[in-house]
Amino acid sequence: MSTENSPNDELLMVIDDTSDSIPQRSRTLCWRILIVDDDKDVHIATELTLNDLSIEGRPLEILHAYSAKEAESVLQQEHDVSVILLDVVMETEDAGLQLVNTIRNKLNLSSIRIVLRTGQPGYAPELETIQKYDINDYRTKSELTRIRLFTILTSAIRAYRQIQQQQTMRQGLESVVKASTELAHIHGMRLFAEGAVKQISALIQTEPDGLICAQEGILDDNNGAQVIAASGRYRDLVQSPIDNIQFEDIKQRLTACLKEKRSLFDDAITLYFSTEQGRGLAAYLDTDQPLEATDRHLLEVFCANISVGFDNVLLYNRLEEQAYIDPLLNVPNLNYLLKYLCSPRTDEKSSTLALIDLDDFSSINDSFGHAFGDCVLKEVIERLTEQFPRCFLARVSSDVFALIGLESEVSSSQIIETFKDDFTIGVQPFKLSASIGLVKLVERTEELTGLFKDAQVALKQAKVHKRGGAITFSQDMGECARDRMQLLTQLRVSLTQNALFMMYQPKYHLSSGKITGMEALLRWRNDDGDLVPPDRFIPLAEQSGMMLTIGAFVIQRSCEQLKQLNDAGYNDICMAINISPVQLEDSGFASLLEYSLKSTGIEPKQLELEITETMAANNLDYICNVLDKVRALGCKVAIDDFGTGFSSLSVLHKLPATRLKIDRAFVDAMEDDDSIAKMIVNLGQTLGLEVTAEGIETQSQLAKLRAFGCEEGQGWLFAKAMNLDDFQALLEQDKQK
Ligand code: C2E
Ligand code: MG
Ligand code: MG
Repeated sequence: MSTENSPNDELLMVIDDTSDSIPQRSRTLCWRILIVDDDKDVHIATELTLNDLSIEGRPLEILHAYSAKEAESVLQQEHDVSVILLDVVMETEDAGLQLVNTIRNKLNLSSIRIVLRTGQPGYAPELETIQKYDINDYRTKSELTRIRLFTILTSAIRAYRQIQQQQTMRQGLESVVKASTELAHIHGMRLFAEGAVKQISALIQTEPDGLICAQEGILDDNNGAQVIAASGRYRDLVQSPIDNIQFEDIKQRLTACLKEKRSLFDDAITLYFSTEQGRGLAAYLDTDQPLEATDRHLLEVFCANISVGFDNVLLYNRLEEQAYIDPLLNVPNLNYLLKYLCSPRTDEKSSTLALIDLDDFSSINDSFGHAFGDCVLKEVIERLTEQFPRCFLARVSSDVFALIGLESEVSSSQIIETFKDDFTIGVQPFKLSASIGLVKLVERTEELTGLFKDAQVALKQAKVHKRGGAITFSQDMGECARDRMQLLTQLRVSLTQNALFMMYQPKYHLSSGKITGMEALLRWRNDDGDLVPPDRFIPLAEQSGMMLTIGAFVIQRSCEQLKQLNDAGYNDICMAINISPVQLEDSGFASLLEYSLKSTGIEPKQLELEITETMAANNLDYICNVLDKVRALGCKVAIDDFGTGFSSLSVLHKLPATRLKIDRAFVDAMEDDDSIAKMIVNLGQTLGLEVTAEGIETQSQLAKLRAFGCEEGQGWLFAKAMNLDDFQALLEQDKQK
């Protein structure tokens, strides 16, 4: 593309799109004519002829070249030449025509008009050449009288000006498109407006001294009409309300522009941009001279483009708002929090992230309804905002809030204090408590979102071990949580790959030494072939929601294998199965048990469910109800690990249990102190319950237990847990006794 500058001050815009710099307006106040001729006299004669002439109100400036070669270098140095009066025959017979070729194809000067002159008519160029090289006129020198030359130059200059105008317009439009495209990927309203000021200044080639004002309602902060972007000498006006602009004329122009919804072109430029919401923006720019029609037109095209851009930014902002703002509470959501954590901040080192989880929120919802629950959340957010005005606050899930702020502000005591006073929901006072997990931002490890996970780990700990209180994340906690996660993932896979199986530990009638039954114990062989102890993976399964599936598997598989023993002729043995609280609390438990019994054909009386006393104490009425159903089916109930929990005698009375199992620890302790074991045996006898001792490892333990009157026992003294085949073989041996 040509980079010629305009010689005409009506043509304001020439943007060199090969360079990033903004060319200044050139103001050539005359038409520059280049005479190329090897005859000095022709130069003198032509200059004389053109002397004092002015065309379209402007004088002529004559440049001279005496050969095609010289003309080329003049054209390389001088700009704004509008017409060349060119001799055809110079250093060679077609030197003039060669020069035309150079001008058009090498120097790429397409708007310069060329008038060919020759001494002899025989050197007239072919018509084809005239067309190809865009030659304006061809004359023999003798033809060119003063009047003729004036006429020819006038029409050439007009043609030149037209071509220049078109080029300017095209370049201007290209700049508009480029400017709009450049702005298109900017999503922040302020950035976009700043870009727009810059682009407008570039389009009209002035210094970017300008500002953009947004009408009330365009920005989310709703602060009334204010300056949203400013550059150059207006830089300091950013964010000031329109009324505070101290330049009276600018204030008036902006106000009028927004009110009248149109651009104003006077000594300055005030452009109006409308948005879909019906609210507008106004851009004010200094200019050192009034704009011509071409520029106005270009600016109008630009404004139309940019208005669409402003709409897009608003739309984008709305979408972003939906993606990042919680609609109920109008505060940042989890996405926003994660983005915030990843954004560079200076306060990071001394900050703390707290996750605040309302205790029992789901029961509040269940008991009082969702509308009430929403009010609770609103009150909580309000109080947190009030108490922690300088902190970042977000809602990260239904009843969990995140707070980030300086360590000195976001402390466990301050958060707990926030929940100390009753909340007012409607008119009622309402007591709320929250469990809190904290993490110091300085303790962040690899990635920043890891911080959020760390806070979740701390929160979980608080939920389980310190309800209504706070726990701060520690590195050990993180490692422990990671190990658990790994184990859990493995367990999930194992569940589908039959890597879980049952082993059976025989139980003995202590006085006769005969096998009475067995306890079904779950085993997990992991990928490495190692047995993972149930004490390790069962609590994990309980917390992760996998226990129901695992528990159902245990019941079904144990019943199936017991059926195999029955079928092999061992009908009178009883099997104990350990039941997790999670299973008992599931409403489908009794029917699941019934299904397993029926589908395997096991007599209910052959089954004994082991529960722990702590689980019973937690939710006594409900558990008693379930156990009543279990008993009604015909199964028995044993209290496992008896003596380790804290249940009172009244609990024991209420539970529909049939057996007590003395915890291994008390059997173990018998060498030193056998009083507890003895007491439990007595208690069982008093309550009419059968008693089993677990973990019998020595003859002396066995002897004492027998002496106390304990009927049943299990332990390594007799046998460890074994697979079904081995257990069947053991039963076979036992039959021989
Ligand atoms: P538990 O119900 O008290 O089971 C008895 C535990 O003591 C078993 O450990 C058993 O192998 C072990 N034991 C038996 N005799 C002796 C002995 O003489 N000395 C010693 N040191 N230990 C002995 P195990 O199999 O590791 O099970 C541990 C706990 O895991 C069980 O305690 C039970 O609470 C739980 N558990 C095992 N299987 C299941 C299951 O299928 N479902 C549920 N919910 N829990 C299970
Ligand atoms: Mg047990
Ligand atoms: Mg036990």
